[in-house]
Amino acid sequence: MTTAHITGFPRIGAQRELKFAVEQFWKGEIDESALAQTGNSLRRQHWEWQKEAGLDFVAVGDFAWYDQMLNASALLGALPARFGFDAKNLSLKQYFELARGNTAQPAQEMTKWFDTNYHYLVPELDENSDFAGGVDWFFYEIEEARSLGHTVKPVLPGPLTFLYLAKAKSDSKEQAAFDKLSLLPKVLQAYNRILERLAKLGVEWLQLDEPILGLDLEREWLAAFEPAYRSLANTGPKILLATYFESVSTHAALLRDLPVAGVHLDLVRAPQQLDVFAANWPNSKVLSLGVVDGRNIWVSDLSAILARLQAHRGSNIWLSTSCSLLHVPVDLAQEIKLDDELKGWLAFAKQKLQEISVLKRALNGADVSDELAKNAAKVASRKASPRIHNPAVSARIASLSDADARRHAIFATRQAEQRARFNLPPLPTTTIGSFPQTKEIRAARAAFKKGTLAQAEYISQMQAEIRLAVGKQEALGIDVLVHGEAERNDMVEYFGEQLSGFAFTQFGWVQSYGSRCVKPPVLFGDVSRPTPMTVEWTQYAQSLTQKPMKGMLTGPVTILQWSFVRDDQPRSVTTQQIALAIRDEVVDLETAGIGIIQIDEPAFREGLPLKKSDWAAYLDWAAAAFRISASGVANQTQIHTHMCYSEFNDILPAIAAMDADVITIETSRSDMELLTGFGTFKYPNEVGPGVYDIHSPRIPPVEDMLRLIAKAAEVVPVEQLWVNPDCGLKTRNWPETEAALANMLEATRQARQHL
Ligand code: GLN
Ligand code: ZN
Repeated sequence: MTTAHITGFPRIGAQRELKFAVEQFWKGEIDESALAQTGNSLRRQHWEWQKEAGLDFVAVGDFAWYDQMLNASALLGALPARFGFDAKNLSLKQYFELARGNTAQPAQEMTKWFDTNYHYLVPELDENSDFAGGVDWFFYEIEEARSLGHTVKPVLPGPLTFLYLAKAKSDSKEQAAFDKLSLLPKVLQAYNRILERLAKLGVEWLQLDEPILGLDLEREWLAAFEPAYRSLANTGPKILLATYFESVSTHAALLRDLPVAGVHLDLVRAPQQLDVFAANWPNSKVLSLGVVDGRNIWVSDLSAILARLQAHRGSNIWLSTSCSLLHVPVDLAQEIKLDDELKGWLAFAKQKLQEISVLKRALNGADVSDELAKNAAKVASRKASPRIHNPAVSARIASLSDADARRHAIFATRQAEQRARFNLPPLPTTTIGSFPQTKEIRAARAAFKKGTLAQAEYISQMQAEIRLAVGKQEALGIDVLVHGEAERNDMVEYFGEQLSGFAFTQFGWVQSYGSRCVKPPVLFGDVSRPTPMTVEWTQYAQSLTQKPMKGMLTGPVTILQWSFVRDDQPRSVTTQQIALAIRDEVVDLETAGIGIIQIDEPAFREGLPLKKSDWAAYLDWAAAAFRISASGVANQTQIHTHMCYSEFNDILPAIAAMDADVITIETSRSDMELLTGFGTFKYPNEVGPGVYDIHSPRIPPVEDMLRLIAKAAEVVPVEQLWVNPDCGLKTRNWPETEAALANMLEATRQARQHL
């Protein structure tokens, strides 16, 4: 008989119940027991669905009030010492303080979970971290599930992944960060204590997630696996070591010989690794095959999966999702606005449980021909649908040449022509795009969407916002203006809604971090741009001023990264299609008299593959896609791009290869350190390093910004520099914004005199 399970379920709830309860708790609107109630009923529901689908286990430990890594820190007793909390008696209030900070301490750092858009709280360890154990929540949840009659398979981050992703902090500033691996013995003792308790609870299997095996792992970390797992081998439950997000085939021998009872593989991301593992896999060990995509929302091709599995049957073969379903929305059944055809192509978390159920029954010899036929019809309809394939788009892609991805002249020529055209002062000033999104703006957009605000009324209200923003920028004396983005809810959704090939769900929420969820657009078909998307707003804004008005677009890589994208063609091709659509808009803006156009690419770095050996290929097509979007214009049209806070140093050649005339970046929080790399690399084009942090309501004093401008001028020639805030200002209010920008302009005025 085939065993079926999932590696984790989304915790947020089909209606984002967890988000709302947690936020109410933060506001003091509900108490701890009411919050606990919501958590209980969500877990209960999710387990129930897993049981209904006939899975052999329910996953426990995938629930968290904020984040699973924070839960692990609280369970192990590995909290940052600076909070002074007792992990064993950690209150829910304190748990949230670790995640969000309190008046005395900033929050734990947060960073992206591998190559997903989920963010986890980085464990913060020092030499004295004792891992002496912490809260019992994990065990309560196991008991809770068992009391409901479920067979549980608890899930935790594995000891090496936990430690590897942690940040080592030394007590004294002079001391270099210590070697985290020196903490491993203590970590393993803590895991052993957990295993003992699980054994007492009668738990048969524990899943330990070790996704770091998909990274380019340093030799000493790789070498730590065997002894670490040997030390866990005798204590209690059988261990299923789960890998995902990448192939681990280079570690096949290590994983085969590791003293664990089973290994899980992601066969969606890396299908070819099945043969490598299966060739030598002992019957005594479980091989869990992650065949249903935990990262995307398409219906699986069940017959194709079954055909593949025929050769790999046996009682030691388990069936599963590729990774936790954390990364997909909960339940497609709620989507009543999607048309039936499109809806038929999709599967959210709950639907994916059904897919595993069909696969399991098929492998066990049950007659599932009806379900397979239905599935095959959906798969075939998606393959053949004219909504997916637009011959005009394929023809355009086929006829793309190198010249389409290159500006007409080299940067030096363009720069000279642009300087002659715009005649900007040294250290030109600009902003990144958005201005304060006031309550009124949000209300107007919502009313227009609902149909309660007429279009003419909406347009005139948005135009009033543009007038306000232009007036304020002129009064401040900014050199290159923006219209303020009042009409945009979200920088990807705004464009997705106007492009062909995109669909939008009502409840397709995915947790981004804590109570924050995102609803990525569904990019299902060939992308094209039926009509101009931003030209009227931008033209209107330009009509109000003599100064250059910067057109504002989102770049192809960012649109790709922040959407659920099709799995029937390479991401690079999908990105080229988006790039061509953006190119059309860029050309139309130019035709409408807009001389400066910004194409935002904040997600450019996010797209980097997990393995360094795959970086070059990605950077190559990603930079080329940007250039396709930017290269339809004349030399004297100035193309900007913008990226938020990220590490640039190791991808500077690719950033230079984007060949934007100006790149604005978020640098103030790094105290301009991030710009140093641009200097040593001799980044050839112009740069606008952010001179103040837009995440804070603090009004940055003139001196601070002057110092940062001077610091920038030490590493990048002043002729190449612009002055701007770190990012868009939509989360600030107008008084903060005006005061900060006034100081920024004063700092620039002083810098122009001295530099
Ligand atoms: N133009 C966008 C804005 O200003 C850029 C946002 C971003 O970088 N994430 O809001
Ligand atoms: Zn930004």
